[in-house]
Amino acid sequence: MFNKIIGQDKAVEVLKRALIQNKVANSYLFYGPEGVGKFTTALYLGMAINCHSVLETRPCGICPSCKKFLSFSHPDLIYVFPFPKETNKPDISIEGEIKVEKILNEYKAYIDNKISTPWKEYFFSKNIGIRIASIRMLEHRVQLSPNEGNYKICIIEHADQMNIKAANAFLKTLEEPPEDTIIILTTSKPNSLLPTIISRCQQLPFHPISKNKIEEKLLDFETLEMFEAKMLARISNGNMEKALRLMEGGKIEVREQTLQFLNYIINKNDLKFIELSTQFRTSKNLTKLQEMISQLIIWMSDLAYFKHQQSEITNLDKTEILEELYDRNQEVEDYAPELINFMEEMLQRLNGHVNPQLVIIEIYNRFTDIFCM
Ligand SMILES: [Zn+2]
Repeated sequence: MFNKIIGQDKAVEVLKRALIQNKVANSYLFYGPEGVGKFTTALYLGMAINCHSVLETRPCGICPSCKKFLSFSHPDLIYVFPFPKETNKPDISIEGEIKVEKILNEYKAYIDNKISTPWKEYFFSKNIGIRIASIRMLEHRVQLSPNEGNYKICIIEHADQMNIKAANAFLKTLEEPPEDTIIILTTSKPNSLLPTIISRCQQLPFHPISKNKIEEKLLDFETLEMFEAKMLARISNGNMEKALRLMEGGKIEVREQTLQFLNYIINKNDLKFIELSTQFRTSKNLTKLQEMISQLIIWMSDLAYFKHQQSEITNLDKTEILEELYDRNQEVEDYAPELINFMEEMLQRLNGHVNPQLVIIEIYNRFTDIFCM
């Protein structure tokens, strides 16, 4: 099943070799950007170690052990991830029992999502973190013998979200891990981990997935047009989960609005634009605005390619808009890079506490300066 992991050939190769030579490390740190397969690889490694099939085809995905891993019900899988806390007392017992019903329900919903639509973000009701109670549970469980498998597999996802107390407690387990235990940490922020944790793990970097690979994967779904796959591959910036999320929801709506925005510029329809901008008065539609700006960046790069390199254009179905914009200002080499930088700055700014409506207004003014002279 390792061939299902896209764009991480090196990491997969290292792990396959370790499995074949029987030299799997006691602890790994998988680090790299969000949405590139770190967790899936960790799960597959755990599956492969306990799989019943012949070595070469592990993990097979169909033996009883693999199936239990895929449904997160294998008794030797110890899965720790950030989740909310309800009371001042530990919400989770050392046996792993979650005592607060509300938290238990969210916990189950998170796992269900992870099984059926892992690319979707799950939003917990409260601040999340990896706390000492989870680490105590892990400590307790690694001391027991494996139930069914050869090895206990601990996956700590978003390990950077361990608070300091949890991290220090975890360090003790990491210093003297039981032999029949494999610990895999995943993180997109390795710098937030204790250096003593990092140095005790075998480190495996994961990389952004190439545009072509994402495009290819999206086209497998057969619901997308070529230009859509191209566009999503560019917007998602190497993040497969993001590409899949965009494919599922909202992308068509956002694209429509981006087209409207460009039409309002072309027709200098300020009133209509103000109407459009009111949905961004609060941060409720923040993600939508971020997507819209990302799409505008692609429109500007399309414009830069418009005259001389049409093969690079993403919005191939809407060249009339590109034509219109180009006709209005042909100094594209001057303004396109500048506008792209400007919009990237705006995206950065949206991460802070700014009023999103002001951001879209600022962008509108900048566009009208350039295209409505
Ligand atoms: Zn198997």
